Amino acid sequence: MNEAITWPLVRNRIRRGMNNHTFGMVRRNADGSRRPHQGWDFEADIGETCFAIADGTIELVRNGGAYGRQIILRFAFDFDGDGDADTLFAAYCHLSRVDVAQGQKVRKGQPIGLTGDSGNARGMAPADRHLHFEIRTKAIAGRGLANRFSPLAVFGECPLARPVGRMAA
Ligand SMILES: [Zn+2]
Repeated sequence: MNEAITWPLVRNRIRRGMNNHTFGMVRRNADGSRRPHQGWDFEADIGETCFAIADGTIELVRNGGAYGRQIILRFAFDFDGDGDADTLFAAYCHLSRVDVAQGQKVRKGQPIGLTGDSGNARGMAPADRHLHFEIRTKAIAGRGLANRFSPLAVFGECPLARPVGRMAA
């Protein structure tokens, strides 16, 4: 992983290790048609510490709607490798607690809040509790996959099979 970036949790694994919890047109409606998932779901029980994935500024703190309690972190990262830093936004959703304020500067790895089950994650079975995490090109991205791309472009790997991060060995 690029040294400017770190994982958002101590232990990072895609929810149930399943592709339909990654980014893109990976989910299906009852009739078989595909629908989007706007980010990655990282497995997380309620109350796990979330870390800033990069140095940056808290662009927005919100509470409401499907995303529940959210933190939007603005950071600079050359995701397309053209040599220029791009302004990106990391969205942490369904949180139970927010420990930062709008406009606050944070450092990579700094604790910023706690995972939870707010918004449409309320009442999920323990095995489905998660941090919904998005990478955006706009702080408020809109519907579908608009103004978002796969977190893979930032993290460089997708932890589907085995967890990654700073867990003890
Ligand atoms: Zn999700």
